[in-house]
Amino acid sequence: MTESRSVTKLHSNDTLSSVEISLEGKILPPYVDENSLMRNIEGDLYGMCLIFPGTSVNEWLATNTLGFFTLVDLIAASIMEYCTIDMCPEMTAGDTQYYWIDEKNKKQKLPAPNHINLAMSYIQTQLQDRKIFPTKFGHEFSPDFIHVIKRMYRHMLQTIAHLYYHHFQILKELSLHCYLNSLLLHFAYFTKHFELLEIQDLEPLSDLIELLFKIDRNDSAGKKAE
Ligand SMILES: [Zn+2]
Repeated sequence: MTESRSVTKLHSNDTLSSVEISLEGKILPPYVDENSLMRNIEGDLYGMCLIFPGTSVNEWLATNTLGFFTLVDLIAASIMEYCTIDMCPEMTAGDTQYYWIDEKNKKQKLPAPNHINLAMSYIQTQLQDRKIFPTKFGHEFSPDFIHVIKRMYRHMLQTIAHLYYHHFQILKELSLHCYLNSLLLHFAYFTKHFELLEIQDLEPLSDLIELLFKIDRNDSAGKKAE
């Protein structure tokens, strides 16, 4: 885990768009309501997912994965003093139970802080493995690359889902919720575009993602109409 516990505020969009948002029938994590869906980034997050010209798909996935991991790790680290073995004895997102699968393929129920620490360490280890993430020109990506990448995204998604369901209130008090909302919106666009997650992986956050997409679409339509 990163040691840093502070987040530099880039710029904040403190007012939620005036679009009408229907929360009817949506299953949202506790505390997440229409007043909590503000973001810190205004901009074309979907456009940011599209491959930079001249870049290979694998290079693009690798670069973006590092960016997503840095943010997930930073936001998780900022609330880890509230995510303790006593407070979060299991890794869950609401009713969804997550298991840690060890190297012998054994499924284990771990307390959330242990699970998240292992997940972040796993991602960091993969990112530093030059056989999987080559840094030198001409070195090929490993044939396992996409398999490893998908596993990394599943770990990040589970961590994000745990934060929404169990630590959203404290994130809001620390004014970090707008960073989490922007991260989830960008993350959801990216994983959808590159098919990095299965529908069942996204299930605990699917209604929230749908709402964030809707707000984003309405914001973009509003900007074009201005
Ligand atoms: Zn927790």
